[in-house]
Amino acid sequence: MSKVFETKRPAIILLGAPGSGKGTQGKILGKIPRFFHCECGNVFRSLDTRTPLGQKFVEYSSRGELVPDELTVELWKTQVANWSDMHLYKADIDYLVLDGIPRNVAQAQYMGNFVQIEQVFHLSCPNRAELARRMRKRALKDNRIDDANEVVIQRRIATYEEETKPILDFFPSEIICEIDATKPPVQVINQITSVILQLPSYKESEGRII
Ligand code: AMP
Repeated sequence: MSKVFETKRPAIILLGAPGSGKGTQGKILGKIPRFFHCECGNVFRSLDTRTPLGQKFVEYSSRGELVPDELTVELWKTQVANWSDMHLYKADIDYLVLDGIPRNVAQAQYMGNFVQIEQVFHLSCPNRAELARRMRKRALKDNRIDDANEVVIQRRIATYEEETKPILDFFPSEIICEIDATKPPVQVINQITSVILQLPSYKESEGRII
C-alpha cells in the first residue's frame, strides 16, 4: 500500500455550491507548481459506468444527491494513493487542493485522519438563480447531464445547503476564508493565493530549494 498517508500532508478545501466556481479555481491552482488539484466529481465521472461503483455514481448524481460516504472516501483515498504512486501528486512538497470533497461533516471528519486541512475557502454565492444559470451553461459546454435538468439543479443546490454547508461550522472559524464567488475569477484567485502565501506551512516551505 502507498505510503502517502503515513504523515498528514497539508491540504486546502474549496467549498461552495455547485456553480460557485470551485472547479475553475481548482484548475488554476493545479497549474501552479506545488499545488495538486483533486476534483472529486471528475474522479467519479472518469469511472467506467459498467462497474458497480460507476453505476452507483450514475444513480446518485443523476438525482442530484451525494454518493454514499463509504464509497466516496474509499475512492478518494485510492485515487490520491495512485496519484502519489505515479508521482503526479508529490505529497512531500505539494498542497492537495480538495475540490468537491469533503461534501459533508462525516467526510470532513474522516479525511482529517489522513490530511492536515490548513485552510477552507468558502466560495459564497447567495444568489441561487445565478448558480442555476452557471450550471445550465456548464451543462451545455461540458456535457454534464446532472446540470441540465431543472429538478436536478434545484436538488443539487438543496443538497449543498443541507449537507455540505454545515462543514463551515465543523472547522474552526480561523481557518475559514469567505470569498465572494460572484467576483471575476482573476479576483477570486488573487484572494485565494494571497491567503495561501500567509499560511505558516507555506512560509516555512518557501525558502526550501527543491
Ligand atoms: P461535482 O462535479 O463536484 O458537482 O459532482 C458531481 C456529482 O458527483 C455530485 O452531484 C455527487 O453525486 C457526486 N459527488 C462528487 N463529489 C462527491 C462527494 N465528495 N461525496 C459524495 N458525492 C460526490
